[in-house]
Amino acid sequence: MSVCAWPLFVQAASIDASTTDAPLLRFHARDASEAAAWQSEARARLFALMMGGNRPDRVRLQPVVLRELELADSASRLQEIRLQTLDDRTVHAWIAVPRQPTVKVGGVLALHGHGGTGEKIVRGEGLYWYGRTLVEMGYVVVAPDIGQHDLQHTNWSLMGERVWDALCCVDYLVTRPEVDTNRLAVAGLSLGGETTMYVAALDERLRLACSSGWLTTVDNMKRGHCPCWNFPGLEEHFDFADIFALVAPRLLVVELGEQERAPGGFPVQIGRGVFERIQSAYEVFGAKPAVVFTVHEGGHVFVGRDFWPLVRRELGMPRTPMPDPGAPSGQGGSRDAAKPQSLDSGHQ
Ligand SMILES: [Zn+2]
Repeated sequence: MSVCAWPLFVQAASIDASTTDAPLLRFHARDASEAAAWQSEARARLFALMMGGNRPDRVRLQPVVLRELELADSASRLQEIRLQTLDDRTVHAWIAVPRQPTVKVGGVLALHGHGGTGEKIVRGEGLYWYGRTLVEMGYVVVAPDIGQHDLQHTNWSLMGERVWDALCCVDYLVTRPEVDTNRLAVAGLSLGGETTMYVAALDERLRLACSSGWLTTVDNMKRGHCPCWNFPGLEEHFDFADIFALVAPRLLVVELGEQERAPGGFPVQIGRGVFERIQSAYEVFGAKPAVVFTVHEGGHVFVGRDFWPLVRRELGMPRTPMPDPGAPSGQGGSRDAAKPQSLDSGHQ
């Protein structure tokens, strides 16, 4: 990506780097008003860094339904869809909607990790059981494919293209007649947890986020991880705790497993330090209880122990799930969920 669009910023970065190692937009607000001003600046900078120099203009989504399927033993049906996200770009996604909606329901953006797809999410395959659980809870669930490693626009970043596609899926969610637009959430594992962080940071319509298998630092990500997380300007401006601070004071659950692999993965020990920084940002908003760190016994898997009760509370409960998705093992959420495999967190 060219940095020529930000000559002043580049100059400022070099000056700042000579005096301190702290990122330029590290969160250090002292009160809610300062914090809100910081968030506004930081969001604009993130859009610029990730997406070609400026927040992109929204285009008409022009949704196309490619296929419609019935989900076996489910009160929801699936649609395979395509949305226009830029003038020259589309995203492929799946959406699950109640077959016979009687009232508006909550909407959830559900995101997969490396090797996953939106279809695996809505079908609840393997690691992605949480997607199907959300479907069975009665929500409208949209799940884009975000695993591509081919950059379409050379002045963008891979994460920028993925996050923009995901943001456009939220735009689509709020156009669906079945969705209560005041009840929106986002959740994902691994690359999905990373994308959840960015989407929740950039889109204030999302009142609840669950980022699983991703709580970490830039330094730790440099230890052998697939480099698709990185982009020019990221570490000069932010560490991931700062990006999570953009979600405050909205509800946020971050989760990691005790058996996460290190180095290169997402060790709990590093996660604790990151969480403390996120929590202090929430404290500035007077919202410390709104952020929760779930540490579970598993590996690189989605558990949702603290997420499911919040989903029920914030998005309502259109249906009774079968079986109870609050099962602490993280494998009880979907009737056809396989025992969670451990995704190699070295390639999240
Ligand atoms: Zn990658």
